[in-house]
Amino acid sequence: MSQTLDQFKEYLHKMKQYEHVLTLLYWDLQTLTPEKGVEAHMSAITYFSSESFRLSTADEYGQMLRTLSEPEEFDALDEAMQLTVRRYSRDYERFKRVPADFFADYTETKARSEKAWEKAKRSADFDQFAPYLEKVISMTKEYVHYMEPDEDPYEVLLDMYEEGIDGDTIDRVFEELKEGLLPLLAKIEARPRPDLSALEGSYDIAAQKKVQQMLLEYIGFDADAGATAESEHPFTTELCIGDVRVTNHYKENDPISAIFSAIHEGGHAIFGQNVDPAYEDTAAGQVNLMGLHESQSRFFENILGRRRSFWVPIYDRLGEILPQFKEVPLDTFYRAINDVHPSMIRTEADEVTYCLHIILRYEMEKAIFRDNVPVSDLPQLWNDKMEELLGIRPANDGEGILQDMHWSDGSFGYFPSYLLGSMYDGMFLEALEKEKGSVDAILEDGRIREITAWLNENIHRHGSLYTSSEVLRRVCKKELSARPLLDYFYQKYENLD
Ligand code: ZN
Repeated sequence: MSQTLDQFKEYLHKMKQYEHVLTLLYWDLQTLTPEKGVEAHMSAITYFSSESFRLSTADEYGQMLRTLSEPEEFDALDEAMQLTVRRYSRDYERFKRVPADFFADYTETKARSEKAWEKAKRSADFDQFAPYLEKVISMTKEYVHYMEPDEDPYEVLLDMYEEGIDGDTIDRVFEELKEGLLPLLAKIEARPRPDLSALEGSYDIAAQKKVQQMLLEYIGFDADAGATAESEHPFTTELCIGDVRVTNHYKENDPISAIFSAIHEGGHAIFGQNVDPAYEDTAAGQVNLMGLHESQSRFFENILGRRRSFWVPIYDRLGEILPQFKEVPLDTFYRAINDVHPSMIRTEADEVTYCLHIILRYEMEKAIFRDNVPVSDLPQLWNDKMEELLGIRPANDGEGILQDMHWSDGSFGYFPSYLLGSMYDGMFLEALEKEKGSVDAILEDGRIREITAWLNENIHRHGSLYTSSEVLRRVCKKELSARPLLDYFYQKYENLD
């Protein structure tokens, strides 16, 4: 092994220590930090962030990357190390082009904007937030321009969240999906909604937590390589392959919400826990393909978790933990968890209309970045698109354009990855059934771990060694298409009554 490679690995390990601490600090901030401790906590985060930034822009590090990029060194590296050198060199060059004072200003602007958004959302007052949003948009454009001066800024953003999937591809598959979904939704809308009154009531929070443990264990979450906690919004965080943590948020009058968050975050965690340990400290071990990650959480949550067959082996257990479910027949429960109807809030949407919420956001982002639509016109544009896609119009901006946090902190280009994840799922489902037969038969038999193992083998263990397009080619032998997801929706909902 070359001397530079030795030094490089040591350096990566050092960078990993800072990341580990930062991840832990963020986890703690969102789960346990008391109000009066927030400031000290934030100051620790700022300290470790700037140390980590210093390491990732140091000349010494850049020199190692350049040496390892030379053909005689590069060709001798293994696949994961080649990916690491390639990706980190790109990031290093990008960061080096961003002036340090601009970066500090941008970071602060985003933090202020996020705070302003929280307030504006609470009072449903877009005008309060507009000047902040305007600044975040213009600075995000500037930031991306520093990093990649010759490329279309929105393409760079899309690529940051889902490497290798470009705007043309997203245009094509989103259009295909939209055309297929609107007639299906019209059909579903023409039918009466199910009567869900049997589920009304108060559900013990401690028991809901037990349900989460039962579900996590059932789908294959390794409790020895993870932990659970509570937070305002459910999320998953990965400290290392042996420590992947999930949170949940419980509502006394709505056990369904925590049930599906548990399965969703469990899916993210199972991905993280099953990456090949040899990739720890490398770029392959850091799964930053948001679409691929989302495909795994959604596969468990929607493709598996919203099937009747998923619940057949465990529905009695659910009733033992939460006795109210003993009074609710499985068929009623099944209808409740698949109640499709247009609603205002993305995070509460069913799996069908959810797709249209994302298409709306993607079209908005194109309007912002490509057509330079002024910020003052955005709420109206949002409401018009809501009406066009979902047939409903927000009563105020709180349930309209202000509902998501993403744009307040500059995360433009992130939204499409949620829907890309669902499209990959349609394709994974097709490939899985081709190889192992009916998913319903496997689930009804209580053999869900066979499906988890299939996902571990085909997707999880590779981490982000392959881009999503490469994964689709390897696993499904196909290019990205909306067709399999549409087939899944039609099969499930066309005759659901
Ligand atoms: Zn997710």
